[in-house]
Amino acid sequence: AAFGSLSSRLTETLAKLRTKGRLSASDVDGTVREIRRALLEADVSLDVVKDFTANVRERALGEEVSKALNPAQQVVQIVNDELVRILGQDQRRIEFAKQPPTVIMLAGLQGAGKTTLAGKLAKWLAGEGHTPLLVAADLQRPNAVNQLQVVGERAGAVVYAPEPGNGVGDPVKVAKAGVKLAQQRQHDVVIIDTAGRLGVDAELMKQAANIRKAVNPDEVLFVIDSMIGQDAVATAKAFQEGVDFTGVVLTKLDGDARGGAALSIRGVTGKPIMFASTGEGLDEFEPFHPDRMASRILDLGDILTLIEQAQKAFDEDEARASAEALMNDTYSLEDFLKQLQQMRKASNMKSLLSMFPGQSKQMKEAVENFDEAQLVRYEAIIQSMTPVERRQSKILNGSRRLRIAKGAGVTVTEINQFMKQFDGAAKQMRTMAKGGMPNMPGMAPM
Ligand code: GDP
Repeated sequence: AAFGSLSSRLTETLAKLRTKGRLSASDVDGTVREIRRALLEADVSLDVVKDFTANVRERALGEEVSKALNPAQQVVQIVNDELVRILGQDQRRIEFAKQPPTVIMLAGLQGAGKTTLAGKLAKWLAGEGHTPLLVAADLQRPNAVNQLQVVGERAGAVVYAPEPGNGVGDPVKVAKAGVKLAQQRQHDVVIIDTAGRLGVDAELMKQAANIRKAVNPDEVLFVIDSMIGQDAVATAKAFQEGVDFTGVVLTKLDGDARGGAALSIRGVTGKPIMFASTGEGLDEFEPFHPDRMASRILDLGDILTLIEQAQKAFDEDEARASAEALMNDTYSLEDFLKQLQQMRKASNMKSLLSMFPGQSKQMKEAVENFDEAQLVRYEAIIQSMTPVERRQSKILNGSRRLRIAKGAGVTVTEINQFMKQFDGAAKQMRTMAKGGMPNMPGMAPM
């Protein structure tokens, strides 16, 4: 997972302090040295590392630690503060134009994730009540226009693209026409996808700069693959000079990015990280909050993002309906099936689960091994039942179970286990829904 090794190095280093009462200067120096090494190994730029460790050292040797009731905890707080600082301190939101449409231009290397991001942004903006228009001004990559159309469709957003074979040449014209169309059709946000190259080159920069000049965007988002490691700094600087972006989007934070790009980019460019992309799915995207990211790196948990994502993942009406069913003792396999399907829609289940704070090693492993196939099997089992069986599972006798097992491609033993777990879990949830205290927490059976 993102920041995995950096995260465990930092938490291990800080955990060593916990056994000590007072911290000597050499304790502090040892800790700072380990932090420095962990950051360098995560490909964080040298300037940022120097700045970071100097601040941590100075504060850790100061009064706030020597006077603290719990010095080790205070050092964790300092490292957390400094992480928040190098990640940009405050969340930076999109600045919408006073006079719509707000124009957002995307720039970055090919493969950084611009086109995917265009779809994610569009979907997210639509969810916030905006009416985005996507503009396909990447006329370099053969399939880019088509890809944007596909992504746009999935996001439920309108896509403006030049007719194939007609005016294919000029991305500046396409971008301008897109903005004009947005004005005419009253889209309040325009997202312009631009071409990328595999490496930074002069022509690419010139094209991006020309688009920027032509449409005068409110935001220019530099999209960067978090996994590019040490090249991040040079690439970011080149784009800063070439197009002068207003904000950064980190992509592929789900991969095993070491964290270098994320931790360096603000310090190197002075520009805020505004969004993070954490997977290929359109919902795997979130506004970037420096404080929450720091908490995740230090394994302090990120409950807020977790709650926000869970709320998005679970349809409100469905959630209410199943709560009501529980209250009325009518909660059935039919309701459970709906919940399962909702859970599977949250395709980023793993990243959701990993946001729980202070997870033990076992818990982490359980999350890592989280078996989505199990959800699929449960679904298959319920789907092999008749509607009556789903509502009144009491009638499931031996021959019915055999038939269901065949239909779902599982054994009768598995059906028996499943039913036993379901009955137990449903009972527990009923108690919970009625305000009682269950033996075990859980929002869905199993
Ligand atoms: P572009 O050339 O900059 O437009 O990049 P694309 O949007 O085509 O993305 C390149 C590849 O990266 C595609 O296969 C995407 O599905 C994938 N991708 C984009 N964002 C993410 C992300 O956050 N996580 C992962 N794992 N893959 C991503």
